[in-house]
Amino acid sequence: MKQFRCSCGNTVYFENTYCGQCGATLGFLPDVLEMSDLAPAGDNRWRALNARGRIYRQCLNYSRDQVCNWMVPEVEPDAFCMACRLNEVIPNLDKPGNRELWLSIERRKRRLVYDLRSKRLPVYNRIQYPQTGLSFAFLEDNPDSHEFVASSGDQSVMTGHSNGLITINILEADDVERERMRVQMNEAQRTLLGHFRHEVGHYFWDRLVKETPWLAPVRELFGDEQQDYSQALEAYYNNGPAPDWHQHYVSAYASAHPWEDWAECWAHYLQISDTLETAAHIGMLRSDVVDLSFDERIDRWINLALRINLLNRSMDQPDPYPFVLTGPVIKKLRLVEKIITDGRKLVF
Ligand SMILES: [Zn+2]
Ligand SMILES: [Zn+2]
Ligand SMILES: [Zn+2]
Repeated sequence: MKQFRCSCGNTVYFENTYCGQCGATLGFLPDVLEMSDLAPAGDNRWRALNARGRIYRQCLNYSRDQVCNWMVPEVEPDAFCMACRLNEVIPNLDKPGNRELWLSIERRKRRLVYDLRSKRLPVYNRIQYPQTGLSFAFLEDNPDSHEFVASSGDQSVMTGHSNGLITINILEADDVERERMRVQMNEAQRTLLGHFRHEVGHYFWDRLVKETPWLAPVRELFGDEQQDYSQALEAYYNNGPAPDWHQHYVSAYASAHPWEDWAECWAHYLQISDTLETAAHIGMLRSDVVDLSFDERIDRWINLALRINLLNRSMDQPDPYPFVLTGPVIKKLRLVEKIITDGRKLVF
């Protein structure tokens, strides 16, 4: 992600709602992918100083609930920003603790949407495109009186993707629960943003691979996805991964089924390209690293990941990137990049 600045010169985080140095109100402008300080122009209208003074409104989730910091260009009639228009179900805010979980979820969702938009991948909701759009449902187990999921009874909510709808169990935003699940599932890394990246990988498989010329090359590298999905997952959960999974897969879970391998590689590709871009923008890597060839960028990444891990070990923190990229995995990541580049041409 690039580095954002307030007009006063202060570096500001993507999640900021005000500048810590000059106190200005901040908002993110999704139409130009920029953070901007904002001058009030009356009636929830704001002049964006980083966008030649153009007028925006705060997203309703910003002005009312303080869980968003994105703006709506004045020309758009919508109350919500383009990222919040992807929400089909949000947590029940009458329940204590849910607002905090929702805020954590929204922060990661906006990073994902920024990332997809900055890669010029199309992001449309299911109201605009019912057959091919993307939406989110943030659900909880045993939701009591939650009207939206009254039919789900006592079943626990599975984080997953189906026909453009990405469901996130809001417990994944609870640090204690997520770490408990990570240990229980014997995973090297389990993050909220990682869930978003993985699930949107399944969504883009439907958009960019299924019924496209990419299906054959994807099958060749990732395997035949027509093998029974539920049986494959059951076998994985009963027997665990093959002992030599490290040589062929980026994670143990990727070995469960070709669809999971694709989603894991997609998520890794987003994680790697985002972190490389951040490193270039903050001066840890040369600024032209993003223009290098795929192989050179992977080399830079392996070196950078090692250094980030070393820094974290000095601070007694877990390795942020506890993975090894083998030749077969790098081949898959290269194909993901080609398909993402091609996806810019995608017509809905
Ligand atoms: Zn400032
Ligand atoms: Zn919003
Ligand atoms: Zn998956």
